[in-house]
Amino acid sequence: MTGSLYLSPNDPWGTPPPAQAVVAALTELQMIGPPHGEATWLAGDALLRHITFAGCSPYLALTPPPDGGTDFCHVALLGPSAQPRIITGPNTLNPRCPTCKARVKDWAPLAERFDADPAAPWTCPSCNAGHRIDTLRWRQHAAFGRLLVEIRSVFPAEGVPSDELLETLGKACGMDSWQFAWAASSA
Ligand SMILES: [Zn+2]
Repeated sequence: MTGSLYLSPNDPWGTPPPAQAVVAALTELQMIGPPHGEATWLAGDALLRHITFAGCSPYLALTPPPDGGTDFCHVALLGPSAQPRIITGPNTLNPRCPTCKARVKDWAPLAERFDADPAAPWTCPSCNAGHRIDTLRWRQHAAFGRLLVEIRSVFPAEGVPSDELLETLGKACGMDSWQFAWAASSA
């Protein structure tokens, strides 16, 4: 699988906006088109205007493959959930300690711990500073949130959302601009 681009409210702990408000905003922006299963939509006409793809015009499939697979560019809504979730991927970079910038090489157990208890504390082995797992510097290679918009079939760092898209989503939900990250597909 290629991976996904995730958009989510800046504060992964805050009350998520109602799913209908997010769907209405995505529809208004023409990010999403007709439904394609539960909480999943085909790409809207303006998706390529809101997501900038690096590289020389990569081939991007916007329609479902004949085998019914999910590795084509479309949009899903995850959540809302009671607790924030973490989504990482095979290309997740080693996060860094926000205090001393030390690399956290063995991050997989941290992701598991976050899954079991998102509020679990983490103590930096290099400087002894205490942080929540989601406040490590994941450099946009892990997604966190109680509600996430997933754009599937995007290689890490290849597709970047426009500022306008992140600001419009935030405004539509009565909050600050949203954030983004790349991780494995949830499909
Ligand atoms: Zn540290």
